[in-house]
Amino acid sequence: MLSLAYATCFQALRETREQLLMDTKWPIGVFASIDAGLGVRLEVARELGVHTVHLHTPHAPSRTPQRAAEFNQRLADLGIKITCVFAGFEGESYADIPTVQRTVGLMPRATRAARTVELKEIADFARQLGVDVVGMHLGFVPHEKTDPDYRDLLDITRAVCDHCRGNGQAMHLETGQEPVDVLVQFLDDVERDNLFVNFDPANMILYGAGEPIPALEKLGARVHSIHCKDATWSDKPGETWGCEVPLGDGDVNFDSFVKTLNKIGYTGPLTIEREIPQEPERQKAEIGRAIDLLQRLKQKYK
Ligand code: MG
Repeated sequence: MLSLAYATCFQALRETREQLLMDTKWPIGVFASIDAGLGVRLEVARELGVHTVHLHTPHAPSRTPQRAAEFNQRLADLGIKITCVFAGFEGESYADIPTVQRTVGLMPRATRAARTVELKEIADFARQLGVDVVGMHLGFVPHEKTDPDYRDLLDITRAVCDHCRGNGQAMHLETGQEPVDVLVQFLDDVERDNLFVNFDPANMILYGAGEPIPALEKLGARVHSIHCKDATWSDKPGETWGCEVPLGDGDVNFDSFVKTLNKIGYTGPLTIEREIPQEPERQKAEIGRAIDLLQRLKQKYK
């Protein structure tokens, strides 16, 4: 009887702690995957003490109501909440900037129609997971409004936003593949109030798209989710990749980043992204150090 009371009490305390961690301003998150894409495994997220994740969308055969129910049970067991499902497509490659332009998101014409259909299916799968945010890289948005691809991309993005609205979801576009002014113009032109920004400061540097902190300030209240990732500039910005590095070792300046998040009123998860899934032990250790750094900055600015 005593052990039952203890177990009940322990469970209640655990649930209270989980709730507190979920409710706190700037809960720490991590980019994660189940069977496809980048990021750490869910068990690693749990080992790191992280309770929120951005989930890279699983392969198409896994996107079924039955698998969603299984994932939801697993997430409940691990005490993890998905705050964003990130779309990804077969055939995408981030090998170098020209390859990204050719293969990523909805810009490649050859796959545009099929990927638009699939993106809506991913949104429906996210709904089955109880997730109200779908994130993605659109690809390189053309800089000129007169470009036929720009107009086509506007129409597609409106259709996807409207589909997400029907699911009670928002759409978050990830930054980096275009300068902030191009992104702001595009967001305004789409004219949908469930379209926001997932701000990734390292991408601004990796793609040579501009200084991240002024871009974050400019986007302000449009930023509804973020990736905490660091990088160093290329010696040919926009032509060749910069280099992704552990959080705090790059050119983002995370002190200034967190300070600016506070300034623009962002209170959502700080979702760490470290894209070295081929080195899981190093990835886990570096994310652990990133958590320590972010916890210190949270204390400083919250
Ligand atoms: Mg990112």
